[in-house]
Formats: sequence, C-alpha cells, structure tokens
Amino acid sequence: MNLLRQLKWRIVAAHMVVVLVGVVLVLAMAYISMRLIVPPSVTDSLAVLSEIHTPADVSAATTQLLDAFRGSVFTAVLVAAAGAVLAGLGTSLLLAREILRPLRELASSSQRIALGHYDERIATPPSDELAMVASSFNQMAATLARVEEQRVALIGNVSHELRTPLTGLQGYLEGLQDGLFPSSEETFGLMAAEVNRLRRLVDNLQALSRVEAGQIDLNLQDLDLVPLVQRVASQLQPQLHAKSLDLVLAGAMHSLWVHADGDRVAQVLINLLGNAIRYTPAGGKITICLAATPQGAEVGVCDTGEGIPAEALPYVFERFYRVDPSRARKSGGSGIGLTIARHLVWSMGGELTATSDGPGRGSTFAFTLPAPFQPHPAG
Ligand code: ADP
Repeated sequence: MNLLRQLKWRIVAAHMVVVLVGVVLVLAMAYISMRLIVPPSVTDSLAVLSEIHTPADVSAATTQLLDAFRGSVFTAVLVAAAGAVLAGLGTSLLLAREILRPLRELASSSQRIALGHYDERIATPPSDELAMVASSFNQMAATLARVEEQRVALIGNVSHELRTPLTGLQGYLEGLQDGLFPSSEETFGLMAAEVNRLRRLVDNLQALSRVEAGQIDLNLQDLDLVPLVQRVASQLQPQLHAKSLDLVLAGAMHSLWVHADGDRVAQVLINLLGNAIRYTPAGGKITICLAATPQGAEVGVCDTGEGIPAEALPYVFERFYRVDPSRARKSGGSGIGLTIARHLVWSMGGELTATSDGPGRGSTFAFTLPAPFQPHPAG
C-alpha cells in the first residue's frame, strides 16, 4: 500500500520537507559565506600579525581558524537538523492523531447508522473545525432518528386506523354468515358506511403523502375570498342545520383579494368548518372572520365548542393527533385533516395557527394568504 495515500504519513512527509528545505538552505548559506565572505575577512584580520610572524605562520593560523569555524557550523547544522527532524516527527504524529481519531470515529459511526443504529453520536473534538463537523454529524443522526421514529409511528397509526373499519366489516360479514344479522338493506347500509370510512381514510392518507412530499399541483391566481367563503358556507348549511349551529360571517366586506389556489383554499376552509361543526355542541355558534393584513389576508374560523387544552395545542397539526382519540374516531376523525390543511396553506405561502382559551371555551383556527400580484379594489 502506498503510504503517501494515508493522511498521517502525508502530514509527516510535509513536516520532513520543511526540515529538509531548512537544512539545505542553512548549509547553502554556510557554504557561500565560508567560501566568499569569511576567508577574506579572516585573512585581513590576521594580516596585522605579518609584522611579528612569518607568512607561513599566518597562513597556518588562517587555515586552522577556518577549519574550526567550518567544523562548528556543520556540527551546529547537524544537531539542529536532528532536533528539527525529531520535533517535526513528534508534532506531525500528534497532529495526525488529533485529526485522524475523530475522522475514524466519524467513519465507524456512519457505518453503524447505516446499519440502523440511529442513536449513534460522536464526541466533540477539541479543534473548532472538527467540532463543527462532529456537531453537524450529530444533528444529522438526530434528524435520522426522528424520521425513523415517525416512520415507525406512521406504520403503527395507519394499521391502527385501518383496523377499526375492517373489524366492523368483519363483524357484519360474520354476523351475516351466522344469521345474526338479516341480509337487509339496513345491514348493507352499515357495511357500506364502514367501506366509505375505509375509502375516506385511504384517500386522506394518499392526500397526506402527496402534500408532505410537496407534490401538490397549485393553480395560483389572484382571487376574491368573499364569494369563495360565501360559497363554502352555503355548501355546509345542511350540516350546520342538522346540528342547529349558527354560522356568522364577520367583518362584512365586498371583496378581499389574495394570491392563492381557490380549490385549495376551499379545501382548507371546509376542513376547518367541518372540525368546528364536529367539535361544537348543538346550539353553538361558528364565526368566519375575514381581515386584510399588511401581507395579504387572514381567515379565521372561531367556534364556541369544546375547545382545546393548552398542552394539546402544539400537537393538533401532527399526523393522527387527536385530543380525545375515542371521541374523535367515533365521529369519523382520523387526525390527518389539520396536517393536510397546514401543508396546503404552507404551499400557498401562508401559515395556519390554532388558539383556544381552554376546554369548553371554543377554538380559533386562522390562516393567512399572500396579497395579490395586481392591485384590486379594496372591499
Ligand atoms: P380529525 O379528523 O380527528 O378531526 P384533525 O387533524 O382535523 O383530525 O384535528 C386533530 C384534532 O384536533 C382533533 O381530533 C380534535 O381533537 C382537535 N380539533 C380540531 N379542530 C377542533 C375544534 N374546532 N375544536 C376542538 N378541537 C379541535
């Protein structure tokens, strides 16, 4: 194996190149000065002796001095070079260890994560750059763990939701086989209701996966919210009437323009009104408030219904979340509607929020939509 392919030996080699260049430069400078600068100055200094000594004595002294000088320079360079090599080797090995240890840990942790151990984390190394890599890695591992947790929860939730209508259908079928239920229109009607429930759930799941994957075809255009809200409100009149609920359109306006997809806005509104109808006892009141905002418009759906406890508010937009699972399921809720609604509002550039004064004190769901591109007459 080529050692220079390994980072450790590359660092050592880099230090050794520095030492080598240093030694060569010092030797070259010593050689030049001993050849060109030192001999004339030594000869000049010893020239004064020529008055009391013979020329042979002066020449021998010159040679002796130069030899002693050369010897001491070379010894000094040799000792310095040996010291530099040792120091270079030591520091490069320490540096390599500091860099390589976290990198090796990173590689083995990645492999463990690839094998499904999402709880894997690495220690933070002392150097800033490697600490940054380690913290990004740990963040990525935490996100993977969360995604995996959600995936497992999703499978559990989906199978749980599918089981309810399937169990109902199985009960009716077995009852028919055993003669417990008459094969009457009523029994088939009940079975059809379970099939419808199953169909609705599957449709919702498909819609959820599409909105979460961002695969929504939007037909964004400038539109007036007032006629749209009126149309949705009259569409829901039968349900409102069946529960003796009062629907009021507050903030009477002639027009309120936004840039959005009309069908999607209607879908969100139907979902919010449907929830308000479902969670408001008979005789209650539902108000739709329209308001212009600096960014566009806000649509609020307030009800005088059962409300939402403060501790549940942050979760109402999570998939399959229900404040009261048994009650919501009985009324046909699967806990997906608000998740889809929020994704739809997000995709149009708005935000959907929920507020409530607590149990029994009603809830308000409000969403914003961006302003139109063209100026339109204000309502
Ligand atoms: P579901 O189909 O169960 O209604 P959603 O996603 O639409 O699912 O709503 C999630 C949960 O939020 C509901 O189960 C309910 O507990 C709560 N919720 C939604 N709207 C209201 C409301 N207007 N009043 C009280 N609770 C609500």
